Amino acid sequence: MNFKFPTKIFVAAVFAVSAQFSAQETPKESPKYDFVEAFKPFFYPQTGTETRSASGQPGHAYWQNSADYKLDISLDEKKNELTGSAEITYTNNSPDQLSFLWLQLDQNLFAKDSRGNSVVPLSGSRNGAKGEVFEGGYKIKSVTYDGKPVKYTVTDTRMQIDLAQHLAAKGGKAKIKVEYSFVSPKYGSDRMGIEETKNGNIYTIAQWYPRMCVYDDVMGWNTLPYLGASEFYLEYGDITANITVPSNHYVVASGELLNSKDVYSKEENDRWDKARNSDKTVMIRTESDIKKNQASGTKTWKFKISQTRDFAWASSAAFVLDAAKINLPSGKKSIAISAYPAESAGDKAWGRSTEYTKASIEHYSKKWYEYTYPAATNVAGNEGGMEYPGIVFCHMDSKGEDLWGVTDHEFGHNWFPMIVGSNERLFAWMDEGFNTFINELSTEAFNKGEYYQKKNIAQMGAFLTSDNIEPIMVGPDNMKERNIGTLAYYKPGMGLGILRESVLGPEKFDKAFRTYIERWAFKHPTPWDFFHTMENVSGEELNWFWRGWFINKWKVDQAIKTVKYVNGDFKNGAQVTVENLGQLPMPTTVQLKFKDGTTDMVKLPVEVWKRNNEWTFKVNSTKEISEVKLDPNGEIPDVNSKNNTWSSAQAAPVEKINPKDFVGTFSNKQVPVKIVLTEKDGQLFAQATGQQAFPLEYLGDNKFSFEMAQIEIVFSKDKKSFNIAQGGTDVKFTKE
Ligand SMILES: [Zn+2]
Repeated sequence: MNFKFPTKIFVAAVFAVSAQFSAQETPKESPKYDFVEAFKPFFYPQTGTETRSASGQPGHAYWQNSADYKLDISLDEKKNELTGSAEITYTNNSPDQLSFLWLQLDQNLFAKDSRGNSVVPLSGSRNGAKGEVFEGGYKIKSVTYDGKPVKYTVTDTRMQIDLAQHLAAKGGKAKIKVEYSFVSPKYGSDRMGIEETKNGNIYTIAQWYPRMCVYDDVMGWNTLPYLGASEFYLEYGDITANITVPSNHYVVASGELLNSKDVYSKEENDRWDKARNSDKTVMIRTESDIKKNQASGTKTWKFKISQTRDFAWASSAAFVLDAAKINLPSGKKSIAISAYPAESAGDKAWGRSTEYTKASIEHYSKKWYEYTYPAATNVAGNEGGMEYPGIVFCHMDSKGEDLWGVTDHEFGHNWFPMIVGSNERLFAWMDEGFNTFINELSTEAFNKGEYYQKKNIAQMGAFLTSDNIEPIMVGPDNMKERNIGTLAYYKPGMGLGILRESVLGPEKFDKAFRTYIERWAFKHPTPWDFFHTMENVSGEELNWFWRGWFINKWKVDQAIKTVKYVNGDFKNGAQVTVENLGQLPMPTTVQLKFKDGTTDMVKLPVEVWKRNNEWTFKVNSTKEISEVKLDPNGEIPDVNSKNNTWSSAQAAPVEKINPKDFVGTFSNKQVPVKIVLTEKDGQLFAQATGQQAFPLEYLGDNKFSFEMAQIEIVFSKDKKSFNIAQGGTDVKFTKE
């Protein structure tokens, strides 16, 4: 799923989505650094088992059940109704006999009395159907087991099937068939739905057929209901789907189209052949072709996908289609496809979707693990962005940098959770966070960094470790909805970035991360399998990092305590004392600047903090020091940058200001929010109406910034107004 972070959104929206950080928190003394708490052993809740090795790899007796599906579905465009059947072949590879089975009925989220609807607050939610009144949820016509009717019970989004005879352990096979129908919501929890366009509706269909719950060695049956925020945990298998739609529709779906000759014209098939061999995007169906197909009746499109955990599809008479070849490291080919309405066409928008898709899949394949599906399709719908195996739905209005970002993110999900099948319902950070991390490298690589902006990690510390947010290791249904963006995406993503750049180094990190992907491809890892693998492959102790960043919300705060010349003379060198104040230790980098303009760098490994709260080291220099600075490249999320620099008296970087001179309430008649500037402990904060506050950094010349959102505030000389600038928008606010 996509979560838009505030890079180039209007300032009011930025304040809204970034509400996590609060200057209004009751000031409480942060717990002091305790090196025993940070590093103590017995971090792992269990040692190795037969199914999960202590080394982080699947154990010698690892097992996993599988589910193959034969799906038939037809779309009634007048009623927005889908009617079909699912034939499931379920294989029980576990060592346990099963006396009942659990299935997921995710469409029941849209039934009026669903638990998911019950937890939507008055202020609204991204989840559910945005208040649409309709007969949502499944109508189940029949359920059979091995061809015979069977007892079943539906509870919210789950169905339990009771078996007259146990399903045998270690290879027992069950055949389940469910006949069902449902009316599609127009807005389906931002993951499916119906978008109206000038040439017809676009149906983006997902969570549409009954799917097996996962039975595993960790929880047994995983039956947490679908409440909206938490995503999916699914078994692997092979899926075929026959999709019957109006004849003038074009269907794109997970996997490979099996009957291209039946559904495309000769000319269109020739264009497909050309696209399969072209690195440049080839038009399959142009805007001017849309009017040509006026056929009535229905057509059936047949698809197949192997080793998949899900299947999604989209259908519309309005699709423009284009495609290009994807080159994979092994020499195999796949194909990048885009399906979008005429409204979204053009080089600034979806005209580049196939280029983005191809680049994204090629990058991830080369860097981490080769893409396994025969096609990768980007569909324009009404979703902010949602991922499925081999197909993703992105918003039809996305363009430029946004469209690159969402396309790259949704296809990044093909690695997490499509290849590495972790439990998204419990551990959103293992797919969204890992994906956010790989997106950063992919964006840096794309088209010589066309859309890349390096993040300043140092300025994010206070925001990411605020006392107001939950720890990462909490399910999305167990955290405030407004914190999901931070806790499932940004903080774990940045955590892996810190681990790569500042703790392990890229070479060690990449080797360990690649090993994790290879070990758990098409399997079900837990957080502990990930942690064990990273430590075993890199050879480094990382329990302090998992403990502080993922399990707790410990803060990083390192400080320079003193800088003293030996015997008072700089010719003798200097003694520098650094302190670790926050609960989460980190490796420490210290930069020294000398008055003659030269610099020196000292690196302290994290082991310094294993038995010390402060550490003094000697600098063997003979020159006068002008500045000593921690983390000069801004790579550590330190919550308090004020104690990171020591400077000789003359080296003050900007003129001194009194932040109290800038406080007040500022407004602009055209904008529905006011911005209030307040001062606390010498720090200036900005806060928009109804939202929480951001810290501002002073840059000199009456200019302040909040770099995370790339906001700049420039005051007039009399301090009675300021201009707030972000992403090319510049708005003037005046003091009331
Ligand atoms: Zn996502």
